[in-house]
Amino acid sequence: MIRYRIVPHDLGAHLFSISCTIEHPAASGQIVSLPAWIPGSYMIREFAKHIVSLRAHTATHAVAVEKIDKSSWRCAAVHGALTLEYTVYAYDLSVRGAHLDTTHGFFNGTSVFLRVHGGEQLPCEVDIAPPPRSDRTWQVATAMTPAGAATHGFGLYRAQNYDELIDHPVEMGSFALTQFTAAGVPHELAITGNQRADIARVTRDLTTICAHHVRFFGAPAPMSRYLFLLTILGEGYGGLEHRASSALIASRENLPRVGQAEVSDGYREFLGLCSHEYFHTWHVKRIKPAAFMSYDLTRENYTRQLWAFEGITSYYDDLALVRTQLIGAESYLELVAQTITRVLRAPGRAHQSVAESSFDAWTKFYRQDENAPNAIVSYYAKGSLVALALDLLLRQETAGAKSLDDVMRALWREHGVTGVGVPESGVERLAQAVTGVDLSAFFAQAVYGTDDLPLAALLATVGVGLQLRAAESDSDKGGKPAASPRARATLGVRWHSSEARLAHVINDGPACVAGLAAGDQVVAIDGLKATRASVEKALENYAVGDTLVMHVFRRDELMQFSVTLAAAPLDTCVLTLLGDVEDTVRARRQAWLGSA
Ligand code: ZN
Repeated sequence: MIRYRIVPHDLGAHLFSISCTIEHPAASGQIVSLPAWIPGSYMIREFAKHIVSLRAHTATHAVAVEKIDKSSWRCAAVHGALTLEYTVYAYDLSVRGAHLDTTHGFFNGTSVFLRVHGGEQLPCEVDIAPPPRSDRTWQVATAMTPAGAATHGFGLYRAQNYDELIDHPVEMGSFALTQFTAAGVPHELAITGNQRADIARVTRDLTTICAHHVRFFGAPAPMSRYLFLLTILGEGYGGLEHRASSALIASRENLPRVGQAEVSDGYREFLGLCSHEYFHTWHVKRIKPAAFMSYDLTRENYTRQLWAFEGITSYYDDLALVRTQLIGAESYLELVAQTITRVLRAPGRAHQSVAESSFDAWTKFYRQDENAPNAIVSYYAKGSLVALALDLLLRQETAGAKSLDDVMRALWREHGVTGVGVPESGVERLAQAVTGVDLSAFFAQAVYGTDDLPLAALLATVGVGLQLRAAESDSDKGGKPAASPRARATLGVRWHSSEARLAHVINDGPACVAGLAAGDQVVAIDGLKATRASVEKALENYAVGDTLVMHVFRRDELMQFSVTLAAAPLDTCVLTLLGDVEDTVRARRQAWLGSA
């Protein structure tokens, strides 16, 4: 048994104080470490850098500790139990880290619980203590099993091993709490942050989504309880999946107000996020790549399958909203069109397949820089389109008898229920085996190649029309018909969100050809002062083929460039439900978008 105690001991300094007691430390000297990354978020984060101080002792005397690498310590050999005491600085308000201030505390185990090398399979007990000057309104929300703690109380919790211990994030504070039952499983939603949303409606809609996903994979659900840990910020977005909970960050304005009846774009995004993380309860938390069956928490864990785990999940997250009629078919197609638009706007899709994007997630997708649009493709966005294309192809090739739904249920039976990891290319082989369709050419192109997917033809098989047009403004995300037929001239850049600064310069676009570079601060266009608000308006005065003079600061040097504007590319997608279609096409569309 490994015993931990965690105290939010200095809210002002954002310090958790933690102890870890090892009953039977390694005879040759116990090694302990913090993980370098958190499962679900594929980037090396070096959580040990936030350990401020660390010491070790037995019941009677101090024990020498030596730091042996960036994340690990070795304690001198001792007789009897060994205790490590350490403080962790926690001021990262994200779903991946730990955060502590006067309003609340939040932590993932990867940020605070030392891994006892050689003792990873031992059961763990955690005493979660209240802050020293205890505020009686603080409660605890976690999917960890209580081992003496009252419901939502401070006190003892337990986990079967270290892997489980770090898979139950913990929130402490004065959160709003709501409970519901979906498919017979008790669920909770704990909301941290200032909000006056229509929580009854959120609860109702989450009940619908959760029940749908349980039905999709087949009852009973694999978890006995489930917790949504939601943090509301003025602006924010994020989610991380766990075996019986998820940590979510959402923008305040995305939650529905009391009395608001429609599904706003923001609320649709929020429901999609919840749906996404909940789907992961099956797909990636239990159906796992073989490479993730036993995580190496010290280094990158490589797989070419993230497109299948994140892409397929990104496909079903929004599909669940239309299948449960929380949104209509037009609204769903707008989301798909926006995803197609995002993929089309990144020329990097010609250089990287989704299999490569998966493998290099650690250094490319998770570490995007100014060249990212030119160099990489998102295994989320394109991965979800691969899933869409695969689903529609299977429905077409089997005359509606089989679909991606059948593949997912087979994955659940063969890998989720059994706990057998999915080998590389395993999803592809299973898709062929389950449906009898020869998919080798499809996967060679869609997963391992860089050609665009044949989406127009596949969407036509379910009576959906695909059109491409030019973007009408920088904020045009696609999904809606053009407001005006006017051809727009483009610089081929993406602007910084708040300054007249070039965030990305698209390869071979007008700005790139003229010599402009990412980071350039634009000060004037044809002699007129440029601001973030004025640049787009200024460009509306020019036509395709016009040349303009741009003054920019690169570093601290003023430079001048002549840029000849090009026609905006047809990279903005609009999808429409076709009215005049055959009955078989209409039926196939109904089977696709209707309830699974
Ligand atoms: Zn995900």
